[in-house]
Amino acid sequence: MTVEADVIIVGGGLHGCSSALHLAQRGQRVVLLERRHVGRHSSGINAGGVRTLNRDPAEIGLSVAGMELWRRIEELVGDDCAFHAHGQIRICETEADMEKSARRVALVRGMGFQHEELIGRDELRRLVPAIAPHCVGGHIVRDDGAADPYRTTLAFARRARSLGVDLREGEGLARLDRAGGDWLVVAESGRRYRAPVVVNAAGAWAGDIAAMVGDRVDLRVRASMMMATERMPRFLDPVISAVSRKLSFKQSDAGTLVIGGGQQGVADRTTERTRINFANLARSAEAAIALFPLMQGVRLVRSWCGIEAETVDHVPVLGRSIAAEGIVHSFGYSGHGFQLGPICGAVVADLITRGGTNLPVAGLSLDRFQPRPAEDVPVAAAH
Ligand SMILES: Cc1cc2nc3c(=O)[nH]c(=O)nc-3n(C[C@H](O)[C@H](O)[C@H](O)COP(=O)(O)OP(=O)(O)OC[C@H]3O[C@@H](n4cnc5c(N)ncnc54)[C@H](O)[C@@H]3O)c2cc1C
Repeated sequence: MTVEADVIIVGGGLHGCSSALHLAQRGQRVVLLERRHVGRHSSGINAGGVRTLNRDPAEIGLSVAGMELWRRIEELVGDDCAFHAHGQIRICETEADMEKSARRVALVRGMGFQHEELIGRDELRRLVPAIAPHCVGGHIVRDDGAADPYRTTLAFARRARSLGVDLREGEGLARLDRAGGDWLVVAESGRRYRAPVVVNAAGAWAGDIAAMVGDRVDLRVRASMMMATERMPRFLDPVISAVSRKLSFKQSDAGTLVIGGGQQGVADRTTERTRINFANLARSAEAAIALFPLMQGVRLVRSWCGIEAETVDHVPVLGRSIAAEGIVHSFGYSGHGFQLGPICGAVVADLITRGGTNLPVAGLSLDRFQPRPAEDVPVAAAH
């Protein structure tokens, strides 16, 4: 028997679950196929940063619009997702860092956004009393914050299911074929699913699905690492990053320090396993101690590493397929897709139910990777 739906979503990360929720809210019959379990990959294990701060200009508008959904996340999914808007600060350690941050704030203001702000030494110390004495200021978004990633992803899945989404875990897409005007998905189990529209939200594996429908996209694999320490008395509210170091640093509700920032381990997409690179992990620890001297000697309790897709320009692919009708892509979030999860689901639902969106997604479609006419000139002729 073939299961019929209006939309089949591939991938039960935050983006797949958010798309499912928004589509179900608009009355679509949705089947979501997740090869392992909801939140198994990046969406369940990320740093939980809800950040509009220092976004690529192509995604600032979408990220800022996304904060509207984060502010009413409980209404949207029936759980507050442990979201706290304590702010995010990018620390400046030198005058050169301050100049860089000032240029950045000017760029953002020039685009018509007001959310990023420069702060000096005194305000930094008021907000972050434990910061190292050499730090001279920062660059802040006061109502950014952090949430619990696994809890958030499960909350989206739960609400989607309660709205009628047929969410199937342990069900991986094996093949995607045309069947008249529809798509036929054959799962690894042999079960078959049919719908006019398929959403590709398969994270690090999304490039394989894009290739099945004839879309070319150059994706790399990221393997960002995280670590968590023993519990400490509360000393930090905002999430900290740094202009000149790879660091994300926050204190959880439980008192542990959760440290990341993009140092890379090793990921194998085939086995879906990752390996810690301890030399790189040590760099994250050194960065944390440099900015927070009280971290010296604090014990690490665990570390982990995720698998994620990264595009060449570090900006996601969100939009229709170029090669095929009835395919919507939502992937390539390149290390910063958690904050975008709630709003990107609304974009996907707009594209499918209204044929377009008013949300600012120009610059995120697959078109940007297609060769321009000049690039088609053979190399020899170009000299
Ligand atoms: C360590 C780490 C820290 C991060 N920190 C932050 C942060 O602080 N803030 C932020 O905004 N972002 C952060 N990110 C990025 C963020 O986690 C990701 O951008 C986001 O979770 C991507 O969600 P997704 O739904 O696209 O992908 P995923 O969560 O990877 O979900 C894709 C799903 O598709 C499934 N799948 C794949 N192939 C198939 C198939 N053939 N059939 C069925 N299912 C399939 C997979 O099993 C997987 O569950 C971080 C990432 C990592 C790894």
